[in-house]
Order: sequence, then structure tokens, then C-alpha cells
Amino acid sequence: MSNNRPVRVRFAPSPTGPLHIGGVRTALYNYLLAKQQGGTMILRIEDTDQNRFVPGAEEYIKQSLKWVGIEIDEGPEQGGPHAPYRQSERKPMYAQYAFDLVEKGLAYYAFDTEEDLEQMRKRLEASKMQPAYDAVSRMSMKNSLTLPADEVKAKLENGDPYVIRIKLPRKEEVRFHDIIRGWVVVNTSTMDDKVLLKGDGMPTYHLANVVDDYLMQITHVIRGEEWLPSAPLHVMLYRYLGWEEVMPQFAHLPLLLKPEGNGKLSKRDGDRLGFPVFALEWKDPSTGEISSGYRESGYFPEAVTNMLALLGWHPSGNQEMFSMQELIEQFSLERVSKAGAKFDLNKAFWFNQQYLMQKSPAEVYDMIQPLVEAKGWDTCREYVEQVVVLMREKVRFAKEIVEQGTYFFETPEKYDDEVIKKKWKEETNAHLLAIAKGFAGLAENAQAAEYEQVFKDYCENAGVKSGELLQPLRLAVSGEGVGAPIWEMMSLIGRDFIVPRIELATTKISFPKA
Ligand code: GLU
Repeated sequence: MSNNRPVRVRFAPSPTGPLHIGGVRTALYNYLLAKQQGGTMILRIEDTDQNRFVPGAEEYIKQSLKWVGIEIDEGPEQGGPHAPYRQSERKPMYAQYAFDLVEKGLAYYAFDTEEDLEQMRKRLEASKMQPAYDAVSRMSMKNSLTLPADEVKAKLENGDPYVIRIKLPRKEEVRFHDIIRGWVVVNTSTMDDKVLLKGDGMPTYHLANVVDDYLMQITHVIRGEEWLPSAPLHVMLYRYLGWEEVMPQFAHLPLLLKPEGNGKLSKRDGDRLGFPVFALEWKDPSTGEISSGYRESGYFPEAVTNMLALLGWHPSGNQEMFSMQELIEQFSLERVSKAGAKFDLNKAFWFNQQYLMQKSPAEVYDMIQPLVEAKGWDTCREYVEQVVVLMREKVRFAKEIVEQGTYFFETPEKYDDEVIKKKWKEETNAHLLAIAKGFAGLAENAQAAEYEQVFKDYCENAGVKSGELLQPLRLAVSGEGVGAPIWEMMSLIGRDFIVPRIELATTKISFPKA
């Protein structure tokens, strides 16, 4: 087959809407193989179905690929030796292959009207047969196999509408090897004579896809499992067109499943469980409906690629964090499993946090600076970068540093009721005031350890367990029961703010008597 040819792969989306993360994963696996093998990554836009065309979708797809770091070598933007890379612009190339097959007796003209087809379906259904246009039923339809040659000629000359259908053998095994699934065997008796060329002269997906893969010298067809049922037909087309020698190797990727594991991950699951299923935010041009995207939700592209790489592919060791370069080095189609991969939201969060931890405080500052500014807070780099260092272990997204770190910038106005109920005693306020007095004796820029020492000493002298006062103290300073490491937080906010905050809290919080 195609073993000795330079690796050429393609991502071939139809611009019918936003790019599902399953599509991003397909593109990623193609890209990883191409890069690893020193091959070529092609983007081919499969837009032969004009009815399903959605404005903006192609641009969206390109943006999505760019965002996750997938570089295209040949495509509509880049050009290349097989341009154009948009099927609608390649339209004149396809018909000749369909006519060629008719000539060889491997395809035929079909003149059936919608009503004819409907009647056939009804007839076959009534006799409990598969309602398909196939090797059996075609013999009772209006096509160039059943009509006399002169009638066919007259119809064609007359410009009667027709389609061209592949002529499949009645009972024959089609076998092909899928890198992920092993041998796939399908009998043509279960297949139908698919349309290759439509009435409007446009090729169907099947014809255009196979012709382009051949012309573009594709060596590996890596695509979603939903295309597996089409593969036997494609294999037949390679055979009929005389291209079996250069037929690409197939690899059909497992589905991305719902978190519960039952069924394909859909947009509705995303809405239901609160995660994006699209790479970027998408505004539906006809309804105006907005669907969330990974980018806008605050995910790092590296986290998305890392997560997607592992949804289907299993590396040989236990490593979970992979840079794009490491993925390129280690990826292999042989280690992609055929079982569906369950989407795991917590894992997505985990990856994002890992990448957040890897960023320098300066990088994170640049990301969140506009958010800090929008809050009307001081954007002093030195201060905010320290907030980043204290907060990033506690959050999943950079923006949460701002959302959950208000107390670094403002005196709390509210205090978590749960903590008050659980922790406040009659003498708590008195203890806190005494501790505040201790803090007041520290330098304005006292270190974390100094705050801690004052607190410990006080607890010891007063004979109170530190556990009794630690959370109340945090609450008084931040309004929250949990958050950044407490002593580092105090040191950063500084004595001049800490002391008044504690005093204020004792006037606002009282022992819940009820
Ligand atoms: N146009 C098809 C799609 O939208 C391509 C399938 C394939 O890769 O062959 O996914």
C-alpha cells in the first residue's frame, strides 16, 4: 500500500458549523503523525453540500486550529501543489471520474424521480426488505442498467436530470485494515449503490473525498468513527478507479463520549454540565445563539491539546503532562484505543491548573491585568504578581485569581455565614482584637512567619487552640473561610490594612445566639 511514500495527512472538515472538540482531536492526531514523520498536514474544506454551508464556519475552523497550535502546511490559506483546497473550487475535477466509471461499467446513470425512490422504499419496506437502492432493487428502477441504450442516450441528450450511482457487486467481501480497529470485513450485500455525482453536477462527499485523497497523495486517512461505515465504499472506489496500490491507510478514531460514558458527547451535554464542546465561542449566524468556547472560558490551548491527546491515545508510561513537542515525539496510532473515550470535566480543570502553575507570574499578570483594571483595582505589577503566586494553587483558571482574590484588593463587606455559625464563640471577637493588637506591633512589611509567630504566641498565652481562631482570623481579614495561604496573604496585604480589617470585622460579626 502506501508504506514508502512520504506521510501526507489531511483534516477535511465540512464548514457546517463550529468545530466540536472531537474534530479538534481528529485534527490534532493528524498533525501529530505528520510532524512526527516529517510529513505534510493538509487542510481541505469539504464544502460540496451547498445546503449545509454555514457562513463563517471555515474561518472559525481555521481560527480554532491556530489557537490550539496546529499548523497547516497546505490549505486554502497556505496554498500548495494541489490547490485549490476547497472542494467547491475543485468542482470541475470530479465528474470525469464518475463518467469514467460509467464507461467501465462500474457505475450507472439513474433517472429516478423523488416519487420513484419513495415508491421503491415503500415497496421494499412492505416486503420487510432493506429499503436500499442496491444490487437487487436497482433492476426495477429507471437507470442505464434497466432502460434500453437508445432511451438512455435520448434522456441524456434531452438533458433529463440524472445522478450517477456506483454499481456494487451483489455479494462480495470488502476487506481493509484499519490501524485502530484491525481487519474490517463488510459484505456488499449490506451496502447500497451510493450516489457519486449529484443532479447539480456536484460530487457527493464519497466521490470528492476519495478523488481528493488520491490526487493529494494522502497516505493516512485519520478520521472519526462516524465515517467507518463509509470506508468500505471508499475501498470499492479505490478498487474501481484503479488506485488500490496507493490507497491510504485508514484509522478511525473512537468517539468522544459523555462524562457518564453513554453516547456521543453533544452540545447539550456541554450546556447541561457546564463545559464548552467547541474550541472557540460560536455565534450561530441564523439564530444568534451563542455557544461557549474553550478559549473564552479561560482554558489554555496547551491544556486543551494535552487533554484531547489523552482522550483516545494511551502513552506507554504514566506521564500525563505532554507538551506539543512531546506529543509529536511519542504519539502513535497503534496506541489509540477503539473504545470510546469518556470526557472528564475534572481532568480538564486539572490540566488547566497544571498549565497555570507552569506559567510565570509575569505571564499570568499579563492575562489578568485587564480584569484587575476593570474592577478598578490597583494594577501594580509587583503586587498582583505576588497575588498570582499565592492564589494559583487554589484556582483552575487565571481569571479565578481575580474572581476569588477580591480580598487582596478590598476590605471585605460580607463574611461567610457558614464559618460564623461553625466557629464564632462568645469570646472570639475579644481574641481577634487582642491578636490585631499584636499585629499592630509588627512592621508594615512584616514577613509571613512574623504574623504566624504573633498568632501562635497569643494562642499559647491565652490557652486557646490555634484551630479555634485560625479560620475566624482568616474570615475577618478576607471574608472567606478558605483561600490563599493565610500568613503569606497577611504579609502581602500588610499591617496597615490587616489591623483595621480585623477591628472592623469584630464590629460586624457577633456571636450567633439563636
Ligand atoms: N468532510 C468530512 C467531515 O466533515 C470528512 C471525513 C473524512 O475525513 O473523510 O468530517
